[in-house]
Amino acid sequence: MAEPSGRLEEFREALRKYGHLIKVREFDPELASGIEEKQLQIIEDASRIIEEKKPRTLEELLDALLESGSMQEYVVLISRVLGEKVSDPEEAVKAVIEGNEALPGFRSGFLALQAVARAYAEAVLKEGIAEEPSAKCPLCGVKSETMARKGSDYVMVCHFCYYEWIVSRDSMMCPYCGAMDPIAIGIYTDKKRRLGLAHCQNCGSTWRCILDEGIRAPRQLLPLIAFGAEIYRRFLEEASGPRG
Ligand SMILES: [Zn+2]
Ligand SMILES: [Zn+2]
Repeated sequence: MAEPSGRLEEFREALRKYGHLIKVREFDPELASGIEEKQLQIIEDASRIIEEKKPRTLEELLDALLESGSMQEYVVLISRVLGEKVSDPEEAVKAVIEGNEALPGFRSGFLALQAVARAYAEAVLKEGIAEEPSAKCPLCGVKSETMARKGSDYVMVCHFCYYEWIVSRDSMMCPYCGAMDPIAIGIYTDKKRRLGLAHCQNCGSTWRCILDEGIRAPRQLLPLIAFGAEIYRRFLEEASGPRG
């Protein structure tokens, strides 16, 4: 495994290289780097615990981390970058699990939990990439809207834990309904074909694709980069709108 400093450098380099593709308005590269630095520290620590305790699920890992007090430390570590006051780190974790954004410390808890989920996803990915014809992350259950082409494979990347899995091989499949007919799946893109917005006529779902395999960024940046494909949504709206 690369040293956290090496991984952070790789992250920063990708931000410099692909920052122009990131079209999320509130995106702050400085803050993102600061959070990444702390998340990489947490990932390193949690990875050690995964190797030791060999949890069978993400939940089991989280329980072990809460019991040892590590999870609470992770929340405090993140809260310092965010400048968020967290009086009870355990409550912050609970807020995330319950999905209660109004509770204090939610953001710190969210990012700490995400780092732990990332560590777990990395450990699972070490055993190889799985095939799963779905948009739902097999590890954390979050629905992904990000697909990337890898050779002849179409891979989905989780927006939360950044786990990746193969949705289909050789031709693009709709990860929401399983449609494989190339006539059913349209891709809106431009001449450069770097990013695209895929649309399934069978179920009406849309998802964002990184079509250009030359885009090589750490996995955690792929959902952000793919978000740039939203600029093609107007083509979809024009195509499906009323015709005169
Ligand atoms: Zn996930
Ligand atoms: Zn579909």
